[in-house]
Amino acid sequence: MHLSRFPRVRLAHLPTPLEHLPNLSKCLGGPDIFIKRDDCTGLATGGNKTRKLEFLIADALDKNADVVLTQGAVQSNHARQTAAAATRVGMACEILLENRTEYTDRDYMESGNVFLDRLFGAGIAHYPRDTDMDAAMAERAEALKAAGKTPYIIPGGGSNSVGALGYVNCAIETLAQANDRSLRIDHFVTATGSAGTQAGLVVGLEGTNSGIPLLGIGVRAPKEKQEENVYRLAVKTAELLGVPDAVARNKVVANSDYVGDGYGIPTDSMIEAVTLMAREEAILMDPVYSGKGLAGLIDLIRSGHFKKGENVVFLHTGGSAGLFGYLDAFPSAA
Ligand SMILES: *Cc1c(COP(=O)(O)O)cnc(C)c1O
Repeated sequence: MHLSRFPRVRLAHLPTPLEHLPNLSKCLGGPDIFIKRDDCTGLATGGNKTRKLEFLIADALDKNADVVLTQGAVQSNHARQTAAAATRVGMACEILLENRTEYTDRDYMESGNVFLDRLFGAGIAHYPRDTDMDAAMAERAEALKAAGKTPYIIPGGGSNSVGALGYVNCAIETLAQANDRSLRIDHFVTATGSAGTQAGLVVGLEGTNSGIPLLGIGVRAPKEKQEENVYRLAVKTAELLGVPDAVARNKVVANSDYVGDGYGIPTDSMIEAVTLMAREEAILMDPVYSGKGLAGLIDLIRSGHFKKGENVVFLHTGGSAGLFGYLDAFPSAA
């Protein structure tokens, strides 16, 4: 696997830190918890989409695109990072936002990521819940072509094989950091949504024969569907990298027990996890992804799935800007 064979625009501050969390580890009394700080990728308050966008935006430039289209939920971190990345390289950006939660309050509709989308100058269009967003993007792309533009469509979450290369990169980077300091990683845990992060990580961890098990904590789909989505994308990504058999199906593991009532809907365990991380480590998580992922990690530690003496790396995928779209979910802080 040699990532330098693929076009890439440098957008992220890399490597991101790999840090021990002494207070949270002590407070939970289980394994030693480490955090891979992909909330510190540097672009527009950071987050995991920046690594994917390094490869996606390079592909868009290769294809002489002048406008980037993407889609997500209203408080999409992906849309915000895409708007910022497009601005960096001088492309226009249009984002299509689906109101998946059906919230209508001002924080959700206008603050957090939406405020930043506008600040970066992106065009925003709103769509109701359950719209076929891929069809909506295709339709908008046709209209732009008819107007003489060259649009480039980035799928939701930047999750295709090109975007997933960013998380192959993260796996290789984390392994190098761990090797440099003789840190034995026993488990790698990440939130998983549109699947590109987990798919890229599993290709990187398996393609290097690291022997490190990866667990995705789902934020939307049920376990079987999430694993199938991740596996399918991992196979495509491995093929793109020339290691087609790198990932066995049983290396793709997701746990969707922490979704609650649905995508983007707060849960008590998410609120506890976000608050605990803020008060123990002064690190900001997010309500939709990393907060639910951390809630899963905490529960799996309390139930003895991860044990004392083990080292667990949790990938911080970012998203803190989304907190400002969810002020009402945190009455203890409001
Ligand atoms: C998009 C996102 C994720 C999930 O990553 P996928 O590649 O979509 O699975 C996790 N955390 C945050 C903060 C995100 O914005």
